[in-house]
Amino acid sequence: MKSYLSILLFAAGVLVAGLRISPVAAQEHHAALVITPLVGNFYVYTTWGMTGGTPFPANGLYLVTAEGVVVIDSPWDTTQFQPLLDSIAQRHHRPVVLCIATHFHEDRTAALDFFRLKGIKTYTSRQTDMLCQANGQHRAQFLFDKDTVFTVGGYSIRTFYPGEGHTRDNIVVWFDRDRILYGGCLVKSTEATDLGNVKDGNPAAYAATIRRVQRKFPNPAYVIPGHQSWAGVQSLQHTLEMAQSAGSR
Ligand SMILES: [Zn+2]
Repeated sequence: MKSYLSILLFAAGVLVAGLRISPVAAQEHHAALVITPLVGNFYVYTTWGMTGGTPFPANGLYLVTAEGVVVIDSPWDTTQFQPLLDSIAQRHHRPVVLCIATHFHEDRTAALDFFRLKGIKTYTSRQTDMLCQANGQHRAQFLFDKDTVFTVGGYSIRTFYPGEGHTRDNIVVWFDRDRILYGGCLVKSTEATDLGNVKDGNPAAYAATIRRVQRKFPNPAYVIPGHQSWAGVQSLQHTLEMAQSAGSR
């Protein structure tokens, strides 16, 4: 067993050295677009973008209703905008009618123009829109000024701005009926070892922001982070603890 393990580790080391990618990425053989059923009519979709020369996954969510499909956040991979729409049409025979982006970074907003041109109603908060404009990112067609409940096909889709964290504009989205908390990049996966990119955010405020999410939605059945695994609901607490160890109160 021990020698088997060391052979594996050696092989992983060779892969890392040869391809200069992380062991996790080396083990993953995935399509450019991966759609994973979550529960009921909810699906997590994942595309990959490059960070420092390494492919890194980004999660979005979609909900299939009788009145059409609601997509939370853009694919990060700009080659996957049409494939996402095609996959949804093939699987569910419904058009995408609404897209809400949860902050201004491109892993959330890259497809906003593309989606608008396809007749999809695109939304962000006004705060996100101002940051999109200031940072040259794609912008939504429609804006909301405060926390908003969208109702589509009998589902309530609730946006909530808990305060600054990953970015100054990050929102989360809550789905009442299935108690799904879509955390976006504010919530770090239990796989994450630190808060990641907070250069546009507020590390000092991070912990208080996460506690506001926990108070508002105390009993989620699922928590979806912007990146990496969404297994378990401990990601919120994990994010809080990482924020606290980074000095946030
Ligand atoms: Zn992100």
